Amino acid sequence: REKTLAMVKPDGVLGNYTDEIKRVILESGFNIFKEKISQLDEEQTATFYAEHSSKSFFSSLIKYMTSGPVLVMVLEKENAVADWRALIGPTDARKAKNTHPHSIRAMCGLDSEKNCVHGSDSLQSAQREISFFFNEMSSD
Ligand code: ATP
Repeated sequence: REKTLAMVKPDGVLGNYTDEIKRVILESGFNIFKEKISQLDEEQTATFYAEHSSKSFFSSLIKYMTSGPVLVMVLEKENAVADWRALIGPTDARKAKNTHPHSIRAMCGLDSEKNCVHGSDSLQSAQREISFFFNEMSSD
């Protein structure tokens, strides 16, 4: 079955949203195939978000993503990539509250940066991001 990478970002972990997010994940028919807590450093975050390296918000994004632990999960389900993106809602959590009130970002996010969760945006990104966090040679 299709797999995607989901992440509860530092604001979600520190705000104690993890259990509620996992409940929504399971109720929505995903299997949590793997999970682990990780503390990203600046270099890892810059690699993970390399596509945004020229954006004005990049240094702020690195500060935010390294501000505390994240929970990374490999979610498994038919159509997992698109279904997880739909469930988390738009990037800007303020917009999510208006247009997608039942989305995870509407429930837990704050704004266009502190939006509580991440989801791979394509099958290709999902493969890259899953191997970024879960090396098949290790016991993770
Ligand atoms: P993600 O990749 O984390 O799932 P996304 O695909 O919805 O989010 P992207 O455009 O890829 O959004 O941006 C990556 C992350 O960078 C966002 O989730 C958010 O934390 C941060 N970000 C995006 N746009 C802005 C912005 N305008 N100002 C500040 N931070 C932003």
